[in-house]
Amino acid sequence: QAKSAGRNRHCFFVPEMNIEVSERLNIENDLRHALAHDELRLHYQPVVDAKSKMIVGCEALLRWQHPKHGFMQPDRFIPIAEESDLIIDIGQWVLEQACQQARKWQDLGLMTGFVAVNVSARQLREPALTQTVQKALEISGLLPNKLELELTEGSVLQGTIIARRILDEIQGLGVRLVADDFGTGYSSLSFLKLFRFDKVKIDREFVRDMLSDQGDAAIVKATIAMAHAFGATAVGEGVETAAQAGVIHHCGCDQLQGYFFGRPMSVSDLQEFLHLGALE
Ligand code: C2E
Ligand code: MG
Ligand code: MG
Ligand code: MG
Repeated sequence: QAKSAGRNRHCFFVPEMNIEVSERLNIENDLRHALAHDELRLHYQPVVDAKSKMIVGCEALLRWQHPKHGFMQPDRFIPIAEESDLIIDIGQWVLEQACQQARKWQDLGLMTGFVAVNVSARQLREPALTQTVQKALEISGLLPNKLELELTEGSVLQGTIIARRILDEIQGLGVRLVADDFGTGYSSLSFLKLFRFDKVKIDREFVRDMLSDQGDAAIVKATIAMAHAFGATAVGEGVETAAQAGVIHHCGCDQLQGYFFGRPMSVSDLQEFLHLGALE
């Protein structure tokens, strides 16, 4: 829709738009069955300690093996899931799946770190989110201090009062809260003050150009300082090169995540990756 508007179309029945709308409806319909048909998968991307480069945890990232469209990335279907409320069931599945996987890796001695799960705005408007989190921890036996929930400014500020109560409860369980994609929203400072985040993830947009753009470098440094002033851990996202890793570590960033250290991987690929690391 936004795209059509951007191209300055005034007529409502543009054929192109019908295709967009019907594709959306198709995806929504298919998504309704995705859980039951076992088409959703979580991939996991390692997060490392900036100093030791040891893996301290991983982020769970959703993938959809669509029968017709093939392997789908979340940007293509999460927004549809959010608008149709399907995200509630999908989000619960993601939480349970991620906690169980993290616990399994712990038991195997492969990875003892945290697992981070992305939570969207719609989930934060359900007071039952606390129970959903609690249940995921219970059935997996994962300790709350091994679970992190990643939230974006947009998601939290949409329903500030209720979100705040839910997040207080979840933090009360011992689960850590992470400010995701930090710096891309509009009210970053009050966002940090309002919620007591345990971690701040610097958006990869700033990390990408910090070596060539002084403005981006300044934002990265200021965000790290601000995270620390709030007693939070600073994480750099989207680290793709050794040079970026070096500079952002030098700026005082605590943890790093990005293709340079490892892409999001299927369970078996990550297990292989962890085995190889253990052999080093
Ligand atoms: P995010 O939470 O900010 O996740 C990080 C994204 O950056 C992931 O994209 C990851 O693959 C990508 N990335 C990681 N390292 C690098 C790098 O070095 N370079 C570049 N260019 N990209 C990197 P992905 O997997 O496509 O996910 C996109 C977004 O979809 C996520 O952004 C998150 O907002 C959302 N998402 C993913 N899984 C879930 C989920 O289970 N639930 C919800 N609600 N949202 C999800
Ligand atoms: Mg995230
Ligand atoms: Mg992010
Ligand atoms: Mg993002």
